Amino acid sequence: MLLITCPVTRTDELVADRRIRSVANHPTHIAVAVECPSCGGSHVFRTGRRWEEHRAELASRAATQAATQAPAQETAQDTAPDTSAAAARAARVRQPA
Ligand SMILES: [Zn+2]
Repeated sequence: MLLITCPVTRTDELVADRRIRSVANHPTHIAVAVECPSCGGSHVFRTGRRWEEHRAELASRAATQAATQAPAQETAQDTAPDTSAAAARAARVRQPA
């Protein structure tokens, strides 16, 4: 059994082993594709120390970049936290499978 959070419904779901569609071993992580019992779609979950470290590094780099760019804009001070969160999210999305 796996415990996943469905990215569509945002609910925690217990997933039976028979719903695992593939497991791929990558140099930085393991990618597990599962058939979601909540929304019926297929989601890929990645895990691994190197994957987490790389993501954390990219997120902090994106946050730093957003923070250093923010003072250049007049109204950026109020929106800076949102900007860095969006940049961190964007950095995560660009990761290869
Ligand atoms: Zn789902």
